[in-house]
Amino acid sequence: MHFSTKYSVILELLNNYNPDRYAASRNYIDGSVSYLSPYISRGVISTKKVYQLLLSKGYEFGKIEKFVQELAWRDYWQQLWVHKEELIDDDLKRTQPNVAHYQLPISILEKSTGIDALDHGIDELEKTGYMHNHMRMYISMLICNIGQTHWKQPAQWMYYHLLDGDWASNALSWQWVCGANSNKKYFANQENINKYTHTQQKGSYLDVSYNEIEYQKVPKELKATLNLELKTDLPEATSIVIDKKSPTFIYNSYQLDPEWHSPEKGNRILLLEPSHFEKFPISKRVLDFIIDLSKNIEGIQLFVGEFDELKAALGCAEIYFKEHPAFKHYKGNRESRDWISNISGDCHSFFKFWKLVKKDLKKDLETIL
Ligand SMILES: Cc1cc2nc3c(=O)[nH]c(=O)nc-3n(C[C@H](O)[C@H](O)[C@H](O)COP(=O)(O)OP(=O)(O)OC[C@H]3O[C@@H](n4cnc5c(N)ncnc54)[C@H](O)[C@@H]3O)c2cc1C
Repeated sequence: MHFSTKYSVILELLNNYNPDRYAASRNYIDGSVSYLSPYISRGVISTKKVYQLLLSKGYEFGKIEKFVQELAWRDYWQQLWVHKEELIDDDLKRTQPNVAHYQLPISILEKSTGIDALDHGIDELEKTGYMHNHMRMYISMLICNIGQTHWKQPAQWMYYHLLDGDWASNALSWQWVCGANSNKKYFANQENINKYTHTQQKGSYLDVSYNEIEYQKVPKELKATLNLELKTDLPEATSIVIDKKSPTFIYNSYQLDPEWHSPEKGNRILLLEPSHFEKFPISKRVLDFIIDLSKNIEGIQLFVGEFDELKAALGCAEIYFKEHPAFKHYKGNRESRDWISNISGDCHSFFKFWKLVKKDLKKDLETIL
């Protein structure tokens, strides 16, 4: 699995994606998923752009509904981040039940959980920066619900490696799996894992019925834990050249859209703030991916430092940036992001949100037809 950082290749990937088999196959490890998340999460393309492209290619809403619903999940988690702010960093709806400790099982790092498909999935994550959705669910289930680990440190571990790392989708999905952002914990047994990952493992500690799985003791493979310390190796700060008569457009690890204000003259800065990466550490692979994606933006310059330091260096130049809950401290002209629909706000459940989104999208379709 290789994720190109060239904008022309990304657009080609988007253009060539065929969601016909998505609903039937998406849960299988080799299912017909889009692999677009690293570009959506990094703000290179939006959920709206993906949706509109599919419609322009003649796909009927009814036939791509499952795929559109998944795009809406991404927007839903983002809306929750916007509205709940730092509350998503901790157990959101209720305290995670059955927590024995707050560290990461060592077998995750050593890929020795005893569940072959999952060890393979972790290896893939480290090598490629991608993990299939079902694999993410299995691994978070294993760590939190079988190993009785609190979700936060393992979520940070996964986020560190993911090219598509998005703190809202990440933290809130972990919390959904472990019952901190849902009413019940998610469980999958060996039979389910074998089916969707095409493995035939037998006799593991997950090879039990659903009646038993929830009440078993923590297996020996998940007992040893360690306190993980993650760190981002940011590049050295270099000086930037600023035309003080032109506006400045700010890009960051969640906003790398090459088309944003693209015809306009301006200073274009990729801002990497040490304080942001201290809170949200990422691996070298992910950092390189972000920097390489930024090269699609003409004239981009890298600034490693805090927003206020950049502002001081810019002097009186006007600043433009896209709204994002991780960068609320930016000052200047805040512009909105593209969303799949006009629905915003703090919906209590995804299905309530989806009902409104679907209605809104259908209304738009009726106006087009
Ligand atoms: C524990 C856990 C952690 C996760 N962490 C992240 C993360 O850090 N960043 C991230 O982008 N997604 C995360 N997800 C959601 C999901 O796994 C990925 O978005 C998806 O696997 C990306 O692959 P794809 O582009 O081929 O998805 P597709 O199945 O092709 O879906 C299309 C797009 O819809 C969105 N999407 C699909 N499923 C979900 C979902 N369940 N939640 C939110 N958006 C979704 C993504 O933007 C994706 O690119 C996580 C899920 C779990 C269970």
